[in-house]
Amino acid sequence: MSSATRILLVDDTPENLDVLSGILEDLDCQLIVATSGERALELATRRLPDLILLDVMMPDINGFDVCTRLKGELSTTEIPIIFVTARTDDISQGFRVGGADYITKPINADEVRARVRHQLERQAMLAELKSFNRELETKVRERTSELTIANRQLREEINERRYMQDRLNYLATHDFVTRLHNRNALESFVSELLARIQVQDVNASFLMIDIDRFRVVNESCGSIAGDELLRQFADSISGLLSRNDFFARLGGDRFAVVTYCEEGDKGEALAQTILTHLRDFKFQWEDRQFTLAASIATVPLARTMVSYDQVLLAADEVIFVAKQEARGGIYTYADAAKRSNLHKDNINWASRLVDAIHSQAFRAYFQMIEYFPVAQEAAAPCYRLEVLMRLWDAEHQRMVSPGEFIGPAERLHLIPELDKWILNATLAFFDQHRDLLEKMDMVSINISAFSIRETHFATTITNSFAQYNLPPQKFCFELTETQAIVNVDAARHFMQLLRNFGCHFALDDFGSGFASYAYLHQLSFDKIKIDGIFVRDMDTDASHYAMVKSIVEMAVSLDKEVIAEFVETPEVANKLYALGVRWGQGYHHHRPQALTHQSLEKLLQLNTGQHN
Ligand code: C2E
Ligand code: CA
Ligand code: CA
Repeated sequence: MSSATRILLVDDTPENLDVLSGILEDLDCQLIVATSGERALELATRRLPDLILLDVMMPDINGFDVCTRLKGELSTTEIPIIFVTARTDDISQGFRVGGADYITKPINADEVRARVRHQLERQAMLAELKSFNRELETKVRERTSELTIANRQLREEINERRYMQDRLNYLATHDFVTRLHNRNALESFVSELLARIQVQDVNASFLMIDIDRFRVVNESCGSIAGDELLRQFADSISGLLSRNDFFARLGGDRFAVVTYCEEGDKGEALAQTILTHLRDFKFQWEDRQFTLAASIATVPLARTMVSYDQVLLAADEVIFVAKQEARGGIYTYADAAKRSNLHKDNINWASRLVDAIHSQAFRAYFQMIEYFPVAQEAAAPCYRLEVLMRLWDAEHQRMVSPGEFIGPAERLHLIPELDKWILNATLAFFDQHRDLLEKMDMVSINISAFSIRETHFATTITNSFAQYNLPPQKFCFELTETQAIVNVDAARHFMQLLRNFGCHFALDDFGSGFASYAYLHQLSFDKIKIDGIFVRDMDTDASHYAMVKSIVEMAVSLDKEVIAEFVETPEVANKLYALGVRWGQGYHHHRPQALTHQSLEKLLQLNTGQHN
């Protein structure tokens, strides 16, 4: 309690006031007195005491009424009131009108002090709590406003980042001269559409537009004029397209439109609209005026088209034919295929190979790789084979050899599909015939260098092994020498991954290419296959013999295993044996045949015991 604490004492009997004042003296409070209800109300409103001791029985306004009025005023409602009364009946009435406590007469000093102290302490605590709450509220308000600001800043940052991201995406997918979609965007769009076409009936066509006289403008007026022409051209063609058409610049003077067409139309209707429009299109640059013409290739997006590359290649072929014949006009895929013998082959192969993938026309063949044991060796027989691919031509009832279709498959970017097919066919076979794999020492599979350039090809392979749960240590991949060198980085990466996985690698057709020691060191092959053209006649051709001999010596020095292919006669086999070659493959030992349980088992049984 402090001297700032005010207590109002109200009683119509001055003696009572004296007694109370006397009791409360040592509390160190300021005491105010009132001898009537009226005066009490006036002092209470003016001086705002911290506590009121109020007599009940007073002549003018009694204590209860005083209390009721004080409680009704906003400024005085919180002031605690202790009633001072001689009648115990008054106690409950006092509480009803808002009294905080009561003191009974005759007055007991200790009781008065205790009740007063209690009220004052309670009051002080309430005040403290209130100020604490006020502080808290201020703090909350401050924090809220800080948070609002931080939030706004964050939102701004997010928006800015989103804008940058959008901008980057835009730049990555748009051509900055014409603002059209670029090649990347086109590739994603076509790839997605092709996937959709595999499962839905969608009639769509790919148009490649090649401006015929673009170079004239570019060379005679400069590249600023050239860019302007491209922009105007793009704008005017855009005006002809519908909202669902996809328009992109392929680069240079080439554009592409992917359009959804009516039943029976293969994009020719739109191509015709574009050509007609171009007839009236004039490009003005300073005082010169140019007319334009274009060649348009239409390629229907059929189910046989499996990749963007294939579509682009087909369109390229058609434009090529168009350019050879004349300038300007619409060329359809079917027309081009008919007119050009040169390109007919590729176009035919494209659909044949894609059909073959879908119709299971590929076959797995195999050829044994023979082990030549050293005389004193009493080794258990070792069996190895190489898987070779064939294509069944149902129309002509013949087996087509890979010499015919690997080349076109590589040109058409379909080779990864073929390589995946043979890998899975081989793994599925040995998964079903684990008894045969058990007896095998190694199974070789050819992989094209075009496949290893595909970023996920190695993972595709490891996934297949995981799917069939077969030991990678029993499998070897053959890469040809020339291809491995052309793609040395891709090859190194690919081999590293699969070597760590446990697979083996053979460098195929070695000798005919240009692989130097340096390359052999860089690439982690563990086997070298001498190119068959040196082996086949090494018994009669001295230079070929010398070649084989030097390859064997080099391989020994590099600690690589040597395999000779095209071993066609016993004479050649003997020469190889004399040179220390331990593995031979050729018609002398085994002619390739279809990979079946029966055919392979027969060979394994036949040979059992032969080598010991
Ligand atoms: P390659 O890897 O050098 O396979 C050996 C080729 O020589 C096979 O021809 C085989 O039938 C043939 N051959 C085996 N022994 C003799 C013999 O004593 N004399 C002669 N003249 N030839 C023999 P094939 O099966 O026609 O395969 C040709 C090439 O096609 C293969 O050469 C390989 O580079 C490629 N190839 C075969 N299957 C696949 C495959 O599944 N994927 C890939 N990417 N390429 C494959
Ligand atoms: Ca091979
Ligand atoms: Ca070979």
